[in-house]
Amino acid sequence: MASGQFQKSDLEAVLKNFQDPETGRNVVETGQVGQISIDGENATLQLGLTTHSAPLQDIVREELQALLTANVAGLKHVTIQFVEHHRAPQPLGQIGLKAKSVIAVGSGKGGVGKSTMAAAIAFGLKRSGCSVGLMDADVYGPSIPHLLGLSGRPEVVENRIEPHLKDGMPVMSMGFLVPADEPVVWRGPMLHGAITQFLRDTNWGELDYLVIDMPPGTGDIALTLSQLLPLSGAVIVCTPQDVALLDAVKAIAMFRKVNIPVLGMIENMSGFISPDTGQRFDIFGSGGAKKRAAEVNTPFLGEIPIEIDIRKLGDEGRVGEVFNTPSGAALAEVCVNVARQLAVQARETPLGPQLPVLG
Ligand code: ADP
Repeated sequence: MASGQFQKSDLEAVLKNFQDPETGRNVVETGQVGQISIDGENATLQLGLTTHSAPLQDIVREELQALLTANVAGLKHVTIQFVEHHRAPQPLGQIGLKAKSVIAVGSGKGGVGKSTMAAAIAFGLKRSGCSVGLMDADVYGPSIPHLLGLSGRPEVVENRIEPHLKDGMPVMSMGFLVPADEPVVWRGPMLHGAITQFLRDTNWGELDYLVIDMPPGTGDIALTLSQLLPLSGAVIVCTPQDVALLDAVKAIAMFRKVNIPVLGMIENMSGFISPDTGQRFDIFGSGGAKKRAAEVNTPFLGEIPIEIDIRKLGDEGRVGEVFNTPSGAALAEVCVNVARQLAVQARETPLGPQLPVLG
């Protein structure tokens, strides 16, 4: 087969139209294109992706292959080899948190599995290779310590709070500071102070993602957070029944009011699949969240059934293992969809050569 029907430069010209999922800038300009080799009708190319984009490898591969084969005449197949591209996070806001994306996980009401989903998103992104922190801002009913099996006051070293680590993931919660059986009575300024301290004075290290488990319903913590640093977006967890959906729509409106973009909705407890027969029972109805998400112009991120193992793992402090349950694949898909929505945002509003330092 005669080579030379297309050149490296032909591929490079097309690659200029491909946006890095993290920054939305073209991958040639950002220096993410490595070696390109051509063998007849086939090509191999190295592409650098940051660990922030790790959940999107399969999607990037497919999109890039489609773009190149459609636009480079004579190119039949291209193999993409990923290499790690390092790009340090810039400090965010006045508090200087070093995280690339900050994701708030909220719900209209309690008990819908918000904390379980927040933890699952954190563990799922970490499983893909991202560096992740998990912050429990559900100050009225912190359940992250219970779900992760963590307890005890974090150490303070040189005025910095050392977060608890779960499988190497830093975790911070009000539940570490107040006994589990004591109600938390907070006034607004105290709450503001506690949340500020969690973000500013905790040794989070350099993060790709900080996942924040929000208190259900109310807007004060969301407002506090949005004043402290730019939040990348909110994920809304709801169950399929109508009353829960109404509250979820209110939560979406609340996030939009404080200018936090809504990344999408997760329908949790979406049907029960009988472990013995495999038959599905739609206890709370089905498809409600997907329909409602479309009505309020919000992406739908996926549905997770009610599963005995998810509840058990939560009660045993092993929520990080939910990916080993039959719903593991659906949960992994939710994580990819969250990362994908952030990439959509970056594509629409590419970040400059310097990531924004707000404050
Ligand atoms: P929230 O944060 O909304 O109050 P939690 O995440 O604390 O809710 O979950 C409430 C309870 O429901 C917990 O016992 C948790 O283990 C359980 N749970 C959450 N999601 C599921 C699910 N998909 N299947 C089974 N149990 C679940």
